[in-house]
Amino acid sequence: MDGGQGRIMRYPWDEPPGQGAAIEVAEGVLWMRLPLPMKLDHVNVYALDDGDGWTVIDTGFSSKKTRAIWQALIDGPLAGKPVRRVVATHHHPDHMGNVGWFQSELGAELVTTRTAWLFARMLSLDVQETWPSETLDYYRSAGMAPEVLARRMAERPFNFADMVYPMPLGFTRIKQGDVFRMGGRDWDVHMGNGHAPEHATFWSRDDNLVITGDQILSSISPNIGVYATEPLADPLADWLETCERLAPLARPDHLALGGHKLPFTGLPTRMRQLIDNHHGALARLRDHLDTPKAASECFAPLFKRSIGEGEYGLALVEAVAHVNHLYHTGDVVRTRREDGAWLYQRRG
Ligand SMILES: [Zn+2]
Repeated sequence: MDGGQGRIMRYPWDEPPGQGAAIEVAEGVLWMRLPLPMKLDHVNVYALDDGDGWTVIDTGFSSKKTRAIWQALIDGPLAGKPVRRVVATHHHPDHMGNVGWFQSELGAELVTTRTAWLFARMLSLDVQETWPSETLDYYRSAGMAPEVLARRMAERPFNFADMVYPMPLGFTRIKQGDVFRMGGRDWDVHMGNGHAPEHATFWSRDDNLVITGDQILSSISPNIGVYATEPLADPLADWLETCERLAPLARPDHLALGGHKLPFTGLPTRMRQLIDNHHGALARLRDHLDTPKAASECFAPLFKRSIGEGEYGLALVEAVAHVNHLYHTGDVVRTRREDGAWLYQRRG
């Protein structure tokens, strides 16, 4: 126990809904889950009752299996009303994966942010059979371990289109400051950044619900990564800016419905933790960079645990996000090593 009521995080449900089942977390708001074939093995999706139909929030990776689960949900907990709209909180494939299926097979309208739509459609059309040289350059500049790089190059590159159903032309845009009606409630739309650019969050004006996507999660820290599309990006600055902007909106009684893990209350506490965790990581990283090091040599101070092969890719892009942030704030300088890796060192 850590003192005042408002500082405690609570999880009203100990267990997630089973496959093909739903839990009603508030009147007309269903929580469901789809499996992911990764260490993070699930994504949360929601359906909101609009009276004459459903609005679905996020959709899982594209696969025959996930669409069979969706069909079971549509024939089960959602039976009796059509899915008229599908909202994607952000462009990542575990959220955007089946959006195109809802559009083209079920006639649903896609509602998302302009950046999420542009990114998802651009990446799903950009099919690569061999590794783009820009991606390999990016991995080398991050100091990717040679054996990891060699193993990757021996495999077909990751393709967004493998995880995302073909996306037809057209969507409906939501943007910062909009008031969006779904599930019998009016929701203030607030944009997040850092985990994904222009990530939508929804704050109910009529009760205590907040749909946070991956911008705010209960028991894991959202991945903040830099990719070959923008090697000098500083998503950590964007993410911290979002946290500071959203924190004053958070109330202890808010029920936060995130893209992964369990729904929770105690949102102000979680916002503070998320901010403090990254400031702590940056302080440890500054100490660690008393001698020049590549991003790949910064896992220990950032994650405080060993990183297995299954997590190496996510750890590397997150390490680059942190060294990039210190580079942009002027705390570190960088030089090229002979093998192409950037080495970062604390100033003074
Ligand atoms: Zn996600």
